[in-house]
Formats: sequence, structure tokens, C-alpha cells
Amino acid sequence: MDTQLKNLLDYNIEELESIVKAMGQPAFRTKQLWEWLYKGADFSEMTNLPEKFRSSLAENYRSGKLGVKAKLCSKEDDTVKYLFSLGDGNLVESVLMKYKYGYSACVSTQVGCKMGCTFCASTKAGFVRNLTSGEILGQIVTMNADMNIRIGHVVLMGIGEPLDNYDNVLDFLKKAQSEKGLGISYRNISLSTCGLAEKVIKLADEKLPITLSISLHSPFDEQRSDMMPVNRKYPLDKLFDACNIYTLSTGRRITYEYALIEGVNDTKEHAAKLISLLKGSLCHVNLIPVNKVEGTGYEKASKKNIAAFKEMLEKGGVNATVRRTLGQDIEAACGQLRRAAESDSAQ
Ligand code: SF4
Repeated sequence: MDTQLKNLLDYNIEELESIVKAMGQPAFRTKQLWEWLYKGADFSEMTNLPEKFRSSLAENYRSGKLGVKAKLCSKEDDTVKYLFSLGDGNLVESVLMKYKYGYSACVSTQVGCKMGCTFCASTKAGFVRNLTSGEILGQIVTMNADMNIRIGHVVLMGIGEPLDNYDNVLDFLKKAQSEKGLGISYRNISLSTCGLAEKVIKLADEKLPITLSISLHSPFDEQRSDMMPVNRKYPLDKLFDACNIYTLSTGRRITYEYALIEGVNDTKEHAAKLISLLKGSLCHVNLIPVNKVEGTGYEKASKKNIAAFKEMLEKGGVNATVRRTLGQDIEAACGQLRRAAESDSAQ
């Protein structure tokens, strides 16, 4: 592992052009190299590039393809969970899901997370570092290459808070959407945040037609602050103000993620409060039967409570769906696999 090597997926095409030129190669090599990088190829696979060029690239750079430390395939559905190792040995998780409309990837944006949400395994060992845009792209190109597929939808909902890594995530979004990059439409990209209101307003200014998801999980400030410490800095009124700005600026409907936890946030009072906060706004509530995370004491809400909660929201005029839980047998909730791998290596 050489942590000094720069990741070629971190560069834009003009920067790559300068690298290729500085290595004494003709301009047309840039396009060839770029296409290989976005195919998730190793230097050894880039057979239309001269061998000498490939070996000097390998001495100075990494291709952006990530090491697969573990790969778990669900026996219940087509979900695949990857544990990737980065150039410096840090680990991140990604999940590949197969839907009727094609492949969707859930990718990580940070190693660890600062946000401290009590139901989340990704934050338990704290924050290590931000991922670069190339490392976020690397998760997708590596899965594409490994499975010989083309991922058409992306969800930024893996390890980390995307808006806490704003610049790199924005760079990733632009490269993922670009025809020269992955060619994934902004409309097929969803960014999930725990509610960094100032960054939501900043993102609104970019006017990207991506879907913004807010992890809400409670309509009561006191309870939300206990579950998600970010709520102390950005309580619900500030968060909803930011969301309104976002909707006005982009015209996009906001998704509120609501993980239903037995006896904690699945009561009639919660549903009624949620209706009073959301009724009339351009939004949609995604109810998530929460995965059990060891050490949190949280249990998945019963099917009966989930159905009753959904019905109440809909009767109250708030659009709601229950998310299909995929990959239950492979611990598809974010951060669980990385946590297990790190505690194994610590033993
Ligand atoms: S839910 Fe998201 S923001 Fe909260 S700790 Fe986990 S990774 Fe971070």
C-alpha cells in the first residue's frame, strides 16, 4: 500500500490532459486513459496504452479502482455489500442493489462520521477523514467493473455525512453526472443529510436537480436532539426553513427519511406532529423499518405499527411509502460491516 500515490479519479479532464502531456504522451492518450479510469480498470488492463506509459503511471498514481476487502452477497435478494480498502488502508462500505429499473449504489462519503446519531454504527468509532471525489467515484467504478454492470442510480447514504464533505461531494456529483464521467442523471442521484441546515441552503444555490433526503426520525426537537445531536445546532424550525429554501430554489420534492423504532418514534402523537409539520409542503416521507444495531437498544417497529403510521400520515395529507428492506441477511445498514472488520483486526 503506497499512501503517496495520487488518485487519477480525483482529476478533471483538463488536469488529466496536463499530466498526460507532462509524461510526454500525445493528447489523444488523455481520452483513452480517462475512459479506462471510468471503467474501473487497473493499469495492467489498459491495453491500448503503451507499456512504458502504463508503468510510469503506476509508479506515480493509482487508477482509482478500490481494493475489495470483503464482499457479501445476499441470499434473499440481489443485494451485494462491499467493504472497500482505500489507498491508505482505511475501510468504507458500499451497497449495490438491484431494482426493476436497474442497479443502484449506496456509497460512502467519509471514513467514519462526526454526527453521533445514536442509531448509527458509522459514528461509533468517530470520524477519521473525508473521502476525495475520486474515492467516492471509485466505489461506483469498482462495483461496475466487478459485476460487469452499469450503475444508473446513486444514493449518498453510506458512511459519513455528505454535506460535511461539501466540496468533494459537489465535485463527485458533477463528475458522476457528466457525460464524460459516469453519465448518471442528477435526477437519479439522491443525497441524504442529517440536517446541516446551512449547507442545505448552500446546496440550494447550486440548483442541481438531485433528490435531497433529510434524515428526520422524530418530529419533536427534544427527542430528535437525543437521537441526532445535530438537532441542537439546527433545530426543526431552522431545518424546515432551509428545506423550504431548497424546494423553492430547485423545484424538487424533498424526501424525509423516518426510521421507525419500536416504542420510540412510532406512536400516534409522532404521526400527528409529523402531519402538522409537513402538510402542504412539497415532500414525501420514506418510512424505514430500522435495522437493529447492536448496542443501541433500538428494535424494528412492528409491521402493524408501520402500517398504522403510514395510514395516519396519508389520511393527514402527507405522502408516505415504506421502504423495502434489502440485504437483511448481510447487515446492509451503513457502518456495520466496517465496524465488525475493525473490531476483528483490533482483537
Ligand atoms: S446516520 Fe449518517 S449522519 Fe448520522 S452518524 Fe450515521 S452516517 Fe453520520
